[in-house]
Amino acid sequence: MRPFALSSLLVLIAVGFAQEPATQESPNVKKRKRTVLVIHGGAGVPTPAEMKADGVTRHDYEQTLARSLEAGYRALRKGTNVDAVEAAIRVMEDAGMFDAGRGSVFSSDGRVEMDASIMVGTMLGSGEGRLDPKKRAGAVASVAHVKNPISAARAIMEMDGGRHVLLIADGAEQYVFGDGVRQKYGIERVSNLYFWTDRRLRQIRELHANDAKKRAAVERSAEARFGTVGAVAVDAKGRIAAGTSTGGTTNKMPGRVGDSPILGAGTYADDRACGVSCTGTGELFMRHVVAHDVVARMVYGKRGVDVAAKESIDALPDDSGGLIALDSQGRHAFAITAKTAGMLRGHVTEDGEIWVAIDAGEAERRVVVERDR
Ligand code: ASP
Repeated sequence: MRPFALSSLLVLIAVGFAQEPATQESPNVKKRKRTVLVIHGGAGVPTPAEMKADGVTRHDYEQTLARSLEAGYRALRKGTNVDAVEAAIRVMEDAGMFDAGRGSVFSSDGRVEMDASIMVGTMLGSGEGRLDPKKRAGAVASVAHVKNPISAARAIMEMDGGRHVLLIADGAEQYVFGDGVRQKYGIERVSNLYFWTDRRLRQIRELHANDAKKRAAVERSAEARFGTVGAVAVDAKGRIAAGTSTGGTTNKMPGRVGDSPILGAGTYADDRACGVSCTGTGELFMRHVVAHDVVARMVYGKRGVDVAAKESIDALPDDSGGLIALDSQGRHAFAITAKTAGMLRGHVTEDGEIWVAIDAGEAERRVVVERDR
């Protein structure tokens, strides 16, 4: 037994960041309260200078994460895991502070195009041991007028008969703006201008400026900071839902689609293991099917959620991004690549305690939503 105990201890030490919620700082974890919802607001952290230029503070980010967790928690109490994921993500899509919904980054042609997906973790169909042919999942890509892309992804997931999983651009918009769908899912049609924020305009103008130095600096900063949003919720029966929403990567080619709407790459849910939402350089997450990789490590490799998350992320280049994961028992993990400065993140426990953190290695702090904001 001894060598096993020692190696377990080494693994626990090695998982550092992914295990962070299980470290001493968080009294919540000592009591092992179940996490019911975990969220992220993108890997990479805006610098103090960037926050100043945007007129926001760390406190604003923490409060927005907390409001998202609160909205998701309330939705879970009244409804389902899918309601919780959608509600939490909608708050971040509306905030104007993330790379999702309002505040999304610009493509190189000066337009905003967004991607989103949502998935439920039920795996088995009626035939013994067979996978559910209608496993619930929905996604949109390259939409430019849908105020809340996560709700559009949900509408596609819940299409009659599970007909389609992923719709793109005009086809997706035509479907979700149809009368019945629009009303049922609270989908609003907005002009592309609605998504534009000063921060993103500054970013894209500098990227297209003649000053090569300035351009290189913005490129570096845009590549290091992501801002995609994601959420994973688990209900009292251990059923999982996961979702991700993004404006993609700054200055992307028109029509470029990242990992966020690609099931298995940016989002995945499997009740036998966990739900995952990723953020970072989408091309890498697609090439290595990262969200499903975490699940596979749990299902086939018998890892715990924290070890699986850490292993999947550590296999990527040092500045790729990060992910959140939540298993069916209510244990969550955060993981980011070695040179990523942090990830806006948080979780809420089954009794409604809200915890958030921003920088790499920072323990989550308990916060309370301020009412007069
Ligand atoms: N993963 C997203 C994409 O590549 C970007 C992000 O996480 O911010 O589209």
